[in-house]
Amino acid sequence: MKEKYRRMALECFEKAHIILTKKEKERIGASDFGLGRFEQIGVQFVEYVSSNRVSAKDVYLLPGQTVPEHRHPGRDCRLGKEETFRCRYGRLYLYVEGLPSANIAGTLPEDIAQYFTVWHEIILNPGEQYTIPPDTLHWFQGGPEGAIMSEFATESTDDIDEFTMPGLKFC
Ligand code: ZN
Repeated sequence: MKEKYRRMALECFEKAHIILTKKEKERIGASDFGLGRFEQIGVQFVEYVSSNRVSAKDVYLLPGQTVPEHRHPGRDCRLGKEETFRCRYGRLYLYVEGLPSANIAGTLPEDIAQYFTVWHEIILNPGEQYTIPPDTLHWFQGGPEGAIMSEFATESTDDIDEFTMPGLKFC
């Protein structure tokens, strides 16, 4: 199953003219956050840098595929992760804290919509970017053609992400 989605990610990276080495292509990661409904809730990515100081990756989302609401808390007296998303291909629907937007573009499966609480919409087209401050709620979804975005962050802390929906983990 994961192989199918890895191939779809590769095809989209090629369409977006993102050049990957053979090793990077083999290392494309995927997570369904433990829910087992990958096409609705999931993500695929290739990591370029991942240390306790810097994180850089390209992320691929299928059309309508969602990364569930979460925040990046601090630890050990340090601020949480700051993330910048830059859209490279397709369209990214991003939701952050703030005034709820009317008529949002994204859609959620009814049975889990209650675990999404921030509705301020930011739509990113290729070449547009947005920075999410540490420890603030956000979630995002691929638009009609899916999306590729580059993610630049201060550190890789996927292990301590706090999701609004109970039981989720980045795996
Ligand atoms: Zn995040």
